[in-house]
Amino acid sequence: MSDTVGRAVLSIDVELFDQTPAYRSASGTTDQQGIGLNGLEWFRETLAERDASTTCFVVASLVDRYPDHIEALADAGFEIGSHTSSHELLSDLDADRRREELQTSRDRLESLTGRSVTGFRAPAFDITDDHFDLLAEAGYGYDSSIVASRAIPGWYGGEYELESPAPATAVDPDAPAGLAELPASVMPGLRLPLTGTWLRFFGPRYTALGMRLLARRGIAPVLYVHPWELVGLPRVEGVPSRVYYHTGEWMRDAVSYILDQPFDFVTARSVLDDAVPGWAPATRGAGRRED
Ligand SMILES: [Zn+2]
Repeated sequence: MSDTVGRAVLSIDVELFDQTPAYRSASGTTDQQGIGLNGLEWFRETLAERDASTTCFVVASLVDRYPDHIEALADAGFEIGSHTSSHELLSDLDADRRREELQTSRDRLESLTGRSVTGFRAPAFDITDDHFDLLAEAGYGYDSSIVASRAIPGWYGGEYELESPAPATAVDPDAPAGLAELPASVMPGLRLPLTGTWLRFFGPRYTALGMRLLARRGIAPVLYVHPWELVGLPRVEGVPSRVYYHTGEWMRDAVSYILDQPFDFVTARSVLDDAVPGWAPATRGAGRRED
C-alpha cells in the first residue's frame, strides 16, 4: 500500500429502494422485497477482498427487518453510523420526531453492534437549523450531511462552502463544541458531487479525477454509494429515469474502478481523527468497545 496517494472514504448509505424519496413519492409500487440487499452483500465482500474499510450509514429500521445483513457489516470491521431510523427527510418532521430519529437509530445500532455509534448522515443531505444541537443531544460526535455542491435547481446544493473536514462550527457558528463535520466531496472548480447521480452520469473516470485533485490539496475524498444502485431495479411508475440510469452491473464496475485507484480506503472516523484533532467522539455509551 506504499504507492497510494492518500486516503479516501467510500461510504455507503444503507437504505433499500423502497425507502428512497423517489420511490416513496412515486405513483406505482413493487411487490419485490429487500431491493438492494444483494448489492449491500456485494459491496461488503468486495471491500473485504481488498482489505478496504468503510463507514456504513445505516437506516436503523433495517435492523429489525434484516439484522443479519447489518450485523455482517459490523463483523467485517466497518464503522457503523446512523442514517436515521426511517429515512424520512428531516425537514419534513417536527423537532420531536427529528430528535427521536437521531436518538432511537443510534440506540438501535449500538445495541446491535455493541459498539459506539458516533457518525450521522441525513437522508438526501437534508438538514434543519437545529441539526447540530439535536446531534449533540443524541450523543453523536460527527455529521456527514453537508455537500458543498453548486445549486442544482429543484434539487439541492448552493448552501455550503465547506470542502474538507472541520469542526461543525465551520458550518454553523452556533454548533456545539466538539462536533465535527465531514463533508461529501465535490469536484474542485465544477462543484458537483463526485458520487451519487453524478458518478452514474459522468462515469468513474470523473470521480477518479476528482479524487486525485483533492488528494493533491491534502483532502481525503469522501464518496457515497447506495445498495440499491448496485442491483437491477424493477420499473416502478413515477420513479424518475435518472434513478435507474447506470445502476446494477454498470455501477458495480464503477465501484470496482474506484477501488482500483491508488488510495487507502478507510473509515470516516479515522479521517476525522487526523483532520480535526480534538473532535470529541460521543461519550454516552462509555464502557462500550470503542474500536
Ligand atoms: Zn439515504
